[in-house]
Amino acid sequence: MAEISIKKVAFIGLGVMGNPMAGHLARAGLEVTVFNRTVAKAESWVERYGGRRAATSREAVSDADMAFSCVGNDDDLRDVALGPEGAFAGMKPGSIYVDHSTVSAGIARELYETARLMGFHFLDAPVSGGQSGAEKGALSIMVGGDAEAFESARAVMARYGRTVTHLGGPGAGQLTKMVNQIAIAGLVQALAEAMNFAVRSGLAADRVIEVISKGAAGSWQLDNRAATMVEGRFDFGFAVDWMRKDLQICLDEARRNGAALPVTALVEQFYGLLQKRECGRLDSSSLMKLLAE
Ligand code: NAP
Repeated sequence: MAEISIKKVAFIGLGVMGNPMAGHLARAGLEVTVFNRTVAKAESWVERYGGRRAATSREAVSDADMAFSCVGNDDDLRDVALGPEGAFAGMKPGSIYVDHSTVSAGIARELYETARLMGFHFLDAPVSGGQSGAEKGALSIMVGGDAEAFESARAVMARYGRTVTHLGGPGAGQLTKMVNQIAIAGLVQALAEAMNFAVRSGLAADRVIEVISKGAAGSWQLDNRAATMVEGRFDFGFAVDWMRKDLQICLDEARRNGAALPVTALVEQFYGLLQKRECGRLDSSSLMKLLAE
């Protein structure tokens, strides 16, 4: 693959994650064209960062060397990539499409193949690090697809990625993100149980957190979510709706590869309970709410 010089980029989906990620690209001096389904978000992004707003995904990518999307689930990605005004119909030959949404490995492989037949490259590149990681440009990016396309795209993704890692062929990024979510699910539930136990024991939670964070119980979740769990603050971060979607993707994949996920399956049900209580947009650490009753 010839070396691509990347100057013009498109970004589709200016949500909690996409908005700051696209902002890093604009700050890096790239010419950015954005598309967002809700027009007001695209307008305010352009007001803040400059660049251009397009009326459709297809129009956004028409001149781009590289295009990005960060939308919700498989159906949303299918809409913005393959819908009637979708991006794939507008991609230039030899260009690169990078999807940062968390979706199934199946759709990642399907879009890779469709892109290949249409003459451009597709990388599945889900992220970890949450809203603050996106804002600070400190995401972990897990990439699947062709190594050469990855090498051409790596430096651009590094504008918002602290680590940008190629894990293998199409779907490997999404499979790695599933590993990440499986590792988090049980951990968040265990942390909620631990904090609930600490409170019910009459201990000073802040001092407990301080001491156990230095030992074997230490984790990102403990450092960033334990104190807010105890305070009952869940109006930030990574939504319950997204976490449940992600765990359902993991459980589907595990049915195919035979991996046992007993704890993940249980925690997925707890997130379902939170959704029934209309807590779908709360942070995924709100598992604590189910214990506090
Ligand atoms: P979000 O704030 O809800 O934003 C979703 C974006 O996708 C919005 O721009 C939305 O447009 C757009 N969208 C959704 N469905 C669409 C459709 N059918 N057609 C066109 N546009 C559509 O979500 P987010 O938190 O940024 O998350 C985006 C992705 O990153 C998800 O896959 C999520 O699992 C993953 N992720 C999120 C986090 C996190 O901490 N938030 C961390 C890691 C990974 P509108 O503005 O019109 O609704």
